[in-house]
Amino acid sequence: MKKLTLLSIFAFLTFQAVAQEAYYLANEGVMVTDGETKILFDPLYPESYGQYLLVPDEVRNAIFAGEAPFDDIDAVFVSHFHGDHFSAEDSLALLQAQSNVALYAPQQAVLGMRTIATDEQESVFDRVHAVSLQYKDAPVTLRMDNLLVEAVRIPHSGWPTGRVDVENIVWRVTLNDNTTVVHMGDADPNDVHFALNPEYWGRVTPNAAFPPYWFFASDAGQGILENRVGARRNVGVHVPVQIPGSPMARPIELRSADLFTRPGETRSLE
Ligand SMILES: [Zn+2]
Repeated sequence: MKKLTLLSIFAFLTFQAVAQEAYYLANEGVMVTDGETKILFDPLYPESYGQYLLVPDEVRNAIFAGEAPFDDIDAVFVSHFHGDHFSAEDSLALLQAQSNVALYAPQQAVLGMRTIATDEQESVFDRVHAVSLQYKDAPVTLRMDNLLVEAVRIPHSGWPTGRVDVENIVWRVTLNDNTTVVHMGDADPNDVHFALNPEYWGRVTPNAAFPPYWFFASDAGQGILENRVGARRNVGVHVPVQIPGSPMARPIELRSADLFTRPGETRSLE
């Protein structure tokens, strides 16, 4: 009986200690943790375009090597096939190096990987899940052990005249039926895209959303975060290096926004 009580206390303490956290890599790269479950968004990319932070070398190396805190990653999510979000070469290399990692990406990015994959890399595609979505298609749902994966195509910023061919995916991922996050890629901040699926957006209250910073700079973008995505907290990503970390030094429309600006920053998702 005494043993049972101690076990119960231990279980209780363990439950209390389940970490729900977002860890910033750089640009739109974020790791989300719920206890032992870990996912990465847009973690591997080669381009800064002179404006965005690259993932620090030691972080990149630890991801490939599977070293803490990047050990036992369950899945990687790619928002779209642009050089400041995705690398086909790196994605293939990571899947080869870490045999338990799954990858979710738009069809466009997966085709980019298939184009350059070597014969010995073919087997990694067993763990690659492509979503093939057109603008205005209904959201899709995929399931993996402890992940509920939902995806909808929201046009890249620049719509309706620019970059309309880019398959930009907004991922809504729930870890362990416990922590839900929304990663938006380079979504265009126009409510017409989100108004297509009001019940989809209204069904869940995410713990956090990671919108590109321009969502904070327009009424339409802020309205989407409040009325559609509906997360309990929003942490902006894709912040150019010239926008300072200190709120009072920022352009006025970004002063009240919570932004990820320094690699290694974390936010609690509880
Ligand atoms: Zn882009």
